[in-house]
Amino acid sequence: MTRILLLGGTGDAMQIARELGLRDVYSLAGLGKVPVDLACAVRVGGFGGAEGLARYLREEGIGLLVDATHPYAAQISANAASASRATGVPCWAVRRAPWQPQAGDDWRMVDDWAGIVAALAPFSRPLFTLGREPLAHLDEIPAHQFWIVRCLETQPGTVRSRVMDARGPFSVEGESALFSEHRIDVVVSKNSGGKATEAKLVVARRLGLPVVMLRRPALADVDREFDTPAELLAALEALSS
Ligand code: NAP
Repeated sequence: MTRILLLGGTGDAMQIARELGLRDVYSLAGLGKVPVDLACAVRVGGFGGAEGLARYLREEGIGLLVDATHPYAAQISANAASASRATGVPCWAVRRAPWQPQAGDDWRMVDDWAGIVAALAPFSRPLFTLGREPLAHLDEIPAHQFWIVRCLETQPGTVRSRVMDARGPFSVEGESALFSEHRIDVVVSKNSGGKATEAKLVVARRLGLPVVMLRRPALADVDREFDTPAELLAALEALSS
């Protein structure tokens, strides 16, 4: 049986991890919750770059590397592709399709934090939904803005910001209530794709609000790419039969 190393930290990865066997390993960076109910082993923390990951693959007798990390976790995906090339261990990846703008959407595409700040200049009540990055800039909030920052972090915020610790999935009803309560006038998002966090885009569309959308990073080619965990699991099944 091929021993699998699954790189995760996403809901998609958890779906795959639940199907792995006793000899397989699920790997997390260590930022969020560590599951305790899996049949496979769970390891937490970095490998020490692409070289460290390649060493791990060799030492642990891994036969297949599965990259189910978030589409914006570009470093670990680059390391996975590089370690796969160095060791000859094949790399498969789940690459969730990005959301596509629909009729009525007003997406403002940006490449980085400076682009976000510039795109937000005309607005006063942004909702940030792209992780922890805004927390490093809470003392730079322009005088005309109040930020709502939703991320997996508990902290008090400031006089011009509120930090909300909330984990998806989010519903259209819940997002509508949030937008209304905080008088949101613009949303800041990564293009994560998938259903779990799509509701904010539905609500922005209904309310005619713009979305400042951070472009996806380019990811290295791997041996096989799958749109969904189910497709990857079917390929794993075929491999073992
Ligand atoms: P990143 O910038 O691509 O990776 C930074 C470093 O963290 C990597 O070089 C690696 O350290 C370590 N690392 C990342 N994922 C790992 C994993 N699954 N197992 C072991 N080490 C890992 O990653 P990031 O954007 O900070 O994201 C960190 C984790 O959070 C990822 O696993 C990702 O799936 C999850 N996540 C990220 C986002 C996002 O928006 N970026 C959203 C949801 C979930 P070494 O070089 O030492 O090996």
